[in-house]
Amino acid sequence: MIALDQDRILLVTVYQPSNGKMTGKLANNSRCPLCGGRLIPDQHATIPFVLGRVVVVVKDVPAEVCRSCGEPYLTGAATDQMLLLLRRFVRLPIEVSVASYAELTAAEPVAA
Ligand SMILES: [Zn+2]
Repeated sequence: MIALDQDRILLVTVYQPSNGKMTGKLANNSRCPLCGGRLIPDQHATIPFVLGRVVVVVKDVPAEVCRSCGEPYLTGAATDQMLLLLRRFVRLPIEVSVASYAELTAAEPVAA
């Protein structure tokens, strides 16, 4: 889920604890919170982000994808990157943008 509040961007992701510890990674047997389907790790997805009047479609985002309903879930690292990237897009005078995650992150690497 993503929400825009003035100049703040909230990107909400879902983590499931592994062995009771928060590792920042989804467990191997992770299930889709929407439908209960099994999540396939190490996938890439094209994800639209609606930020008020701005729409950004980002291709090839690292994600875990539900085998049943196809819902993509960003990895922790990708979530951090997307927050930084989306902040830049919101400031542009462009209503609809299409970008590649790999090109965006290669052009201006962001420190972890
Ligand atoms: Zn699902």
